[in-house]
Order: sequence, then C-alpha cells, then structure tokens
Amino acid sequence: MLLLFYNKVVNYTRAFLHLFYPHICLECGTDQLLAHSVLCTTCENNLPYTDLFQIENNMIEKVFLGRCKISTAGAGLFFSKDSIVQILIFELKYKQNKKAGWLLGRIIGSAIQQLSRFNTIDLLIPIPISRKKERQRGFNQSIIICEGIQQILPALKIASVLKKPRSTRSQTFKGRLQRTDPFEHVFVLADPTPIKGASLLLIDDVITTGATIEAAANCLWWGQPLSISLAAATYTL
Ligand SMILES: [Zn+2]
Repeated sequence: MLLLFYNKVVNYTRAFLHLFYPHICLECGTDQLLAHSVLCTTCENNLPYTDLFQIENNMIEKVFLGRCKISTAGAGLFFSKDSIVQILIFELKYKQNKKAGWLLGRIIGSAIQQLSRFNTIDLLIPIPISRKKERQRGFNQSIIICEGIQQILPALKIASVLKKPRSTRSQTFKGRLQRTDPFEHVFVLADPTPIKGASLLLIDDVITTGATIEAAANCLWWGQPLSISLAAATYTL
C-alpha cells in the first residue's frame, strides 16, 4: 500500500517536472525514452558508429604512427558538423548535460567490452582541461565519458594523473590575431605512481589532428606504464 502510494508520488512528481524540464530525445523529440538517456532507442541505434575498435591498424591507429606509441585505438562515433553527434558533444561541453557524456561513454564501453585487444586495460586516463575551463563548465567532460564507460565496465578505475599547467602568459602573450593557446598541448604527469606497469586507456571527447593525444601519451610514458591505448568518443574524418 505504502509502496503504491510512493510510486504514485514519484510518477506525479516526474510528470510535473516534465512540464518545466521536458525529457525528450535530442534527435527526434519523442518523449518515449529511458530516464537515464538523451536519445530514444531508435535514434541511439541510428548513430554513426565507427566500428573501428575491433579493426587492427585502423585509421585512428595510423594517425599516431611515428608520432607516439599507442597500442590500440578507436572511437565510438564519427563526428560531422550539424549532426546529432555534434549536438551530443555540444550538450556535454556547453550545456552541462552529463547524460550526453555518459551515453558517449557507454558507447565506448559496449564497443570494447568483448574485444581481446582491449581486455588488458587497467586504468582510464581522462585528458585534462584547464582549471579555468573546468570552473566554467563545472566538470571535465572526459571524466564524464569515463564514468559512462564504468557503467558498462565497472572494474576500470579512473586515474586523473595528467594535469594541464596554468598558462601564466596566456592573455598578454597572445596577439590580437593569435588565438591559439601556446600551452594547449602541454601536459604534466602529476602522479606517476598508479600508472607504473599498468595498461592505460586514454579517454578524449573528440579526435581531430591527434596533437592532444600525442602530447598526453608522450607525457604518460615518463611514468613507465606497460601500454597506452586510446578511446575517443568521436572521430572527425
Ligand atoms: Zn529519437
């Protein structure tokens, strides 16, 4: 009896909240979707999956040949402008929508779950963002993606051992036309202890040129891990 009453209260509260915060699929607008997700099942099934995790010498692994030692690499989805994938990344980074990041993480987790190429991974290493960006955003989006991976693979622990150094010269150093941050691809290994002898999986939201991953991997090698692999939520062709 009490449980029935409780369920009714929960349902009414949910319906009431929906009036102000509608819970609808980001792609098609239906309200028929699971509470923890941002897409309905149909739109989730129609996402542009790369299927690259299972392929040896795939196009992402080739990006890093001769640049840094990466054992295996892959990405969950292909990124293109004006697509639902861009909306998911935008929701995560600029609208504080953690559910979008957890979905991206679950896509990686499900893709690598059964693969022998990835079954030796010990630790998830999120790519760090600057303290300023983290303050503005409220979180590091790569950590949210890691949490999504943990929803599928709970044994994997997150080790935030990489940090971004404070760029002391940032504003005055930049000319009016120089918009790029000279410290963009600089990382510091804040704590080498947990990664020594471990198999690492670097996690990032978007791979384009691979410069961020290259800098992060070369920094991590100072901590003497056994191997470094890479999983990105999205990859831009
Ligand atoms: Zn939908």
